[in-house]
Amino acid sequence: MRAISHWIDGKPWSGLAERTGDVFDPATGQVAAHVDFAGTKEIEAAVAAARAAFPGWRDASLAKRSTVLFGFRELLNARKGELVELVTAEHGKVLDDAAGEVQRALEAVEFACAVPALLKGGFSENVSSRVDVYSIRQPLGVVGVISPFNFPAMVPLWFVPNAIACGNAVVLKPSEKDPSASVFIAELFAEAGLPDGVLNVLHGDKVAVDGLLEHPDVRSISFVGSTPIARYVYETGTRHGKRVQALGGAKNHMVVLPDSDLDLAADAAVSAGFGSAGERCMAVSVVVAVDPIGDDLVARIRERIANLKVGDGRRPGCEMGPLVTGAHRDKVTSYVDAGVDAGADLVVDGRGHEIDGEPDGFWLGPTLFDRVEPAMSLYTDEIFGPVLSVVRVESYADALEMVNANQYGNGTAIFTNDGGAARRFQNEVEVGMVGVNVPIPVPVGYYSFGGWKDSLFGDTHAYGPDGIHFFTRTKVVTSRWLDPSHGGVNLGFPRNT
Ligand code: NAD
Repeated sequence: MRAISHWIDGKPWSGLAERTGDVFDPATGQVAAHVDFAGTKEIEAAVAAARAAFPGWRDASLAKRSTVLFGFRELLNARKGELVELVTAEHGKVLDDAAGEVQRALEAVEFACAVPALLKGGFSENVSSRVDVYSIRQPLGVVGVISPFNFPAMVPLWFVPNAIACGNAVVLKPSEKDPSASVFIAELFAEAGLPDGVLNVLHGDKVAVDGLLEHPDVRSISFVGSTPIARYVYETGTRHGKRVQALGGAKNHMVVLPDSDLDLAADAAVSAGFGSAGERCMAVSVVVAVDPIGDDLVARIRERIANLKVGDGRRPGCEMGPLVTGAHRDKVTSYVDAGVDAGADLVVDGRGHEIDGEPDGFWLGPTLFDRVEPAMSLYTDEIFGPVLSVVRVESYADALEMVNANQYGNGTAIFTNDGGAARRFQNEVEVGMVGVNVPIPVPVGYYSFGGWKDSLFGDTHAYGPDGIHFFTRTKVVTSRWLDPSHGGVNLGFPRNT
């Protein structure tokens, strides 16, 4: 059995773990590896390694830092196939989807390569006689990154490159369900010349997370995961005096207006609803069909689902893989049962979908419900699986009200050919990321990613410019040189003249 251990101070941790977790191959349902879970000793070792590495890395020139990042980018690009295979093996998403994840991760790395330009401060000459003022951005110190299972390569790389580029030292706690991608990333960074201790990977569960949240040497936490844990991380981390950004769950609505291209909308609903088996925080889980197109749209979505090939993500032609664990598959299936009990129309039942894979894999086929009501658990809860709900409303105003009343505000999309309606929607909707005829509006690497409401706690989005802001603090210097007539003693508040 393969053993996965922590990466601390530039090498694999050799200590014996008191607790371990199972890592599954979701397509076969078999345990593929054991991962060590951190206890106090490992948490202390990882934070101590980062703390020791920080002063040297903080003082490394911008040229050195960007050279390491460019080197990492080259290695990642050259060996992305290996990372893609690791992601599929432990997460279950199909290879092509994993390749998309790694490509988006590369965008975040490429953004951080420009760190010399990104860390430029401001300079104002002669704000008062011979007085100059300038601002500089400095790293925080040891920063913690805690990531979810659904993007084991991309989400760590939303944060790690910017954190390192800004001169911080990182302790990364990836999901215990698919931990290998993070170790691969740490190995590549080491090969690219990152000094030992600047990036550490600590595996584990709540014990590891709490260890980072409470540790006095950890200055900030970047978290991505479900809303209850994001709220907990935000509250606990800030109580311990840390800067925290905690990205949470989602319930993304796709509004389809009657004038839209229904084939385009149906393609988008199926792609964004069932890609990655619905295990994306930007998955469309609710289609809001504005009268009178409901019947037509549901028929088109149903047709497309019938052609989807579900199976082992490594097999050619499979478009949707298994769910990440048996427990998660059972939880998602329980929502299908509850939807039927609550009286929603089950249009396509994924429990009977034909699978191209091993019988013990964690399968659930694409499932479609129509006439879902806002009070049903199908609508109220983030299901995080291949279950798409269609809700029918009478007007644009009803659709907008529904999206805005929802507790989540991660992503949303509108499908229409009316530019005025689209512009009104982007202005009025209370959601952080909006698509116009685009179902998964994940911002490119040089913008930042983040939701509103219960989809993000804290005020800073992930990666891009917000990432540079999060991982640095500003210092403003006021300096006077070459001024022989400084005016002598003056107890008044300094005035600029
Ligand atoms: P999760 O909340 O279960 O776990 C996320 C991280 O928190 C993991 O590293 C996990 O080990 C840790 N954790 C789990 N339980 C904990 C506890 N009780 N105390 C402390 N730490 C704990 O999330 P997940 O199932 O891994 O990922 C799926 C969730 O992540 C979904 O809700 C999805 O919407 C969300 N997500 C959000 C975004 C975003 O950008 N908003 C992106 C990806 C995923």
